Amino acid sequence: MIDTIPLPFTADPIDAPFWEATLRSQLVVQQCAGCQAHRFPPRPMCPQCQSLDHRWRPLSGDATVWSYTKPQPPLLPAFELLLPYVVVLAQVAEDPHIRIIGHLMSKDGGITGVDEAGLKIGAKLRVAFRQHASDVSIPGWVLVD
Ligand SMILES: [Zn+2]
Repeated sequence: MIDTIPLPFTADPIDAPFWEATLRSQLVVQQCAGCQAHRFPPRPMCPQCQSLDHRWRPLSGDATVWSYTKPQPPLLPAFELLLPYVVVLAQVAEDPHIRIIGHLMSKDGGITGVDEAGLKIGAKLRVAFRQHASDVSIPGWVLVD
């Protein structure tokens, strides 16, 4: 039985810089060196111009709610232990095409039973990070008053 939430493999060379940035509480996305398009999740080739060259662009951490859901059982046991919680699809401020999924978090980093007052499409969010292991910090989202 799986009793902890599945954690990402953070040593893959394609997305390792993303996970290294999260350990510094920084959100980054790839930016194509050819056409300047942002892309997320990380991948080796630009889907717009097929360039293999990119840089990692830091983001402000500001976003808005593009969508959200409240998961219901049946879930993996580790996720059932977190109920009730909300999963947010956040549209980052720098690019409306970049959307990053994460838990809705309280200001103190909690996931379970977060106050949902103000949660709606378009609500302002700020990225937050929750450390799950020495090499894994996962971004989530806090509602901005
Ligand atoms: Zn490109």
